[in-house]
Amino acid sequence: MTQTAKIIDGKATAAALREAVGARVAELKAQHGLTPGLAVVLVGEDPASQVYVRNKNEQTKAAGMNSFEHKLSADTSEADLLALVDKLNADPAVNGILVQLPLPKQIDSQKVLDRILPEKDVDGFHPVNVGRLVTGGEALVPCTPLGCLMLLKRELGSLAGKKAIVLGRSNIVGKPMAQLLLRESCTVVVAHSKTHDLPGECRQADIVVAAVGQPEMVKGAWIKPGAVVIDVGINRVPGSEPGKTKLVGDVDFKDCVSVAGAITPVPGGVGPMTIAVLLRNAVEACCRQNKIPFTEVF
Ligand code: NDP
Repeated sequence: MTQTAKIIDGKATAAALREAVGARVAELKAQHGLTPGLAVVLVGEDPASQVYVRNKNEQTKAAGMNSFEHKLSADTSEADLLALVDKLNADPAVNGILVQLPLPKQIDSQKVLDRILPEKDVDGFHPVNVGRLVTGGEALVPCTPLGCLMLLKRELGSLAGKKAIVLGRSNIVGKPMAQLLLRESCTVVVAHSKTHDLPGECRQADIVVAAVGQPEMVKGAWIKPGAVVIDVGINRVPGSEPGKTKLVGDVDFKDCVSVAGAITPVPGGVGPMTIAVLLRNAVEACCRQNKIPFTEVF
């Protein structure tokens, strides 16, 4: 393997973003007497969700914001969860609300997400925010794709005119990613499981964002030499030692690193950006709710 690609350090970039968020929070406190508040709601005991919620809570506090954690039992009814969302919507100390997914099966997730006030929807999943992103309005944007965009812009500067391919069309990653790239004036292809000749489509792209949930699917031969490759995938696969597992992305890193111009690793690429962007979104939400102009923190 001859490594040519620059390794994009998402961990360092996320740390810098969190620092910039912390500085903005301090400014809001000093100039306006405001402390942004983020409420995180966890229903049930899914171990991965518990880890995410703990990390979100710790990082929110570390950035100087108020963190409100709500843990509900796995048998919580939809009505009770909606009542909590209503309470948080009405609470002026709460600027952002995040309901950790997945929710237990007795609860209709979309109904809950739709209940969050669009201006407090720091995950950017509410149809109003989705619509604003598409129509070019003032939207809160889903954290993972916005984190990918930040990494791309730091790498490439202007993205205008670049050919980009997004692999995956989910509501939380693929579709908003494609919209963000379009907003940056990229020429965007959105590929999915029915796409013909995925390798050929990929080879034309200056930017590849992989979000398919398929371990190491994207091969070096799919990549245009010098392209920037952003790997959103988080897949747990068997490790080299018996009984051990390891994390891999949707991109075959070892294969692509000798072809790409720059590439994100897994772990340490896109993953750390997601929570950092969540904190940034909470600051944006706080500013907008208090009619304070929001300029990009980073
Ligand atoms: P989904 O399962 O919701 O969507 C996967 C998408 O990939 C679908 O559009 C599907 O196509 C497409 N797809 C699946 N298999 C193939 C294939 N063989 N060829 C082409 N397209 C394919 O996944 P998510 O968007 O939620 O997540 C994607 C990945 O990103 C996962 O690994 C997830 O763990 C990770 N992730 C990471 C985050 C982070 O913070 N870093 C946050 C969120 C997700 P179709 O629509 O036709 O079925």
